[in-house]
Amino acid sequence: MTEEPLIVLDGVNKWFGKLHVLRDVNLSVAKGEVVVVIGPSGSGKSTLCRAINRLETIDSGSIVFDGQPLPAEGRALSRLRSEVGMVFQSFNLFAHKTILENVTLGPIKVRGEKKAEAREHAMSLLERVGIADQADKHPAQLSGGQQQRAAIARALAMRPKAMLFDEPTSALDPEMVGEVLDVMTSLAREGMTMVVVTHEMGFARHAAERVAFMADGQLVEIAPPGEFFDNPRSDRARDFLAKVL
Ligand code: ADP
Ligand code: MG
Repeated sequence: MTEEPLIVLDGVNKWFGKLHVLRDVNLSVAKGEVVVVIGPSGSGKSTLCRAINRLETIDSGSIVFDGQPLPAEGRALSRLRSEVGMVFQSFNLFAHKTILENVTLGPIKVRGEKKAEAREHAMSLLERVGIADQADKHPAQLSGGQQQRAAIARALAMRPKAMLFDEPTSALDPEMVGEVLDVMTSLAREGMTMVVVTHEMGFARHAAERVAFMADGQLVEIAPPGEFFDNPRSDRARDFLAKVL
C-alpha cells in the first residue's frame, strides 16, 4: 500500500518542566489501522494521545494529520478536534443535558448541522452503541458502561477520521468493560483508524494491528500483537508483560 498514513509523528519531544515526557517518538498510523498503546503508568501514553489532537503542544518534532501539520489555533484547530475524536477514562458528558443533546451539540454548534439531521444521525449512533433507549435520560441515570458508550457516540457524531481512546474502560466496573470493548471492536472492524491506550491485553491481542509499548517517554517497541506478546524484544517490555499478563 502506498497510501499516505493518516497520523505521522516524527521525532516528537515534549517536556513538562524538567520532565522529558515524550522522547523522540516516531509513529505512523495508516488509514484504518488500530494501534494499541500500552506501558507503565507515567510513561507518556496520555500525553501522546493528547498531543495528537493538540490538547498538548510539543517542543520539537512534528505531527502530521491527514497530510497537514497540526494547526496551532483557530478554525483549523476546531476542525482537527472534530476530525480526531477522543474518548477519555472519565466520560466527560455534559451532566445537565440529555444523552441525545450530548450527542447532537457538537454537530449543531461546530459542524453547523440542522437540528433534525443531527438528531437522526445521533439516534443511529446511539442505536449502534446499543443505548438508543437511553436517549432522553441524563448521564447520571446511566451506568458507567452506558455513559462511556454515549461518549463514543458523541465523538462519532462529529464524523471523525480517527478516534483516540485513553483508557476508556479503566473507570468502569468490571462487568461493564466488555460492552465498551465490544463497541470499540466493531468500530475497528468497520475500518475506523484508532489509537487506543488500554490495559486490556485481550483487546490489544485481538483488535490491534500493532501494539506500541511505551516506557519513560519512549516508544520502545511496536509490533503486531502476536509478535509483541509472544516474543517481546526489549527487557522493559518483557518485565511489563510479566506483571500484567
Ligand atoms: P501515562 O498516561 O502513560 O500514565 P502521562 O502521559 O499521563 O502518562 O504522564 C507522563 C508523565 O508526565 C508523568 O510523569 C506525569 O506525571 C507527567 N505529567 C502529565 N501531565 C502533566 C502536566 N500537565 N504537568 C506536569 N507533568 C505532567
Ligand atoms: Mg494516562
